[in-house]
Amino acid sequence: MVYNTELNALIDRLKNDDKDSENVNPGSWGLTEYLKTLIDNNQLQDSAAIGSAKKAVTDGISLLSDAQLKAIALDMLNNDLYMKECPNCFEIIAWGEMRIALFEGQCYHCVYQQEKIEQE
Ligand SMILES: [Zn+2]
Repeated sequence: MVYNTELNALIDRLKNDDKDSENVNPGSWGLTEYLKTLIDNNQLQDSAAIGSAKKAVTDGISLLSDAQLKAIALDMLNNDLYMKECPNCFEIIAWGEMRIALFEGQCYHCVYQQEKIEQE
């Protein structure tokens, strides 16, 4: 079950991070590459989301309609392809670190800290 607030927040993040050429937004880097990875690994399920993500990679996210952005965002949330922030330190997860964060269940800083503690 996806909540509207969650969905709208993700749509806003996609739009704003795409425009963020100066890297002002935390975690904005790596967005297009992440979408490409989702396509290459067949991780998106909905055909509208797949088509929209392909368009985003080739033409740019700024050319997507709100409906297309919504399709991508909804598919990310439905298929656990998005983590907003680290559950431990509440750091915003960068797109470029999304895959590792989803795999580990936390951000890479926390993974690193944990490994350090385990080795001591
Ligand atoms: Zn963390």
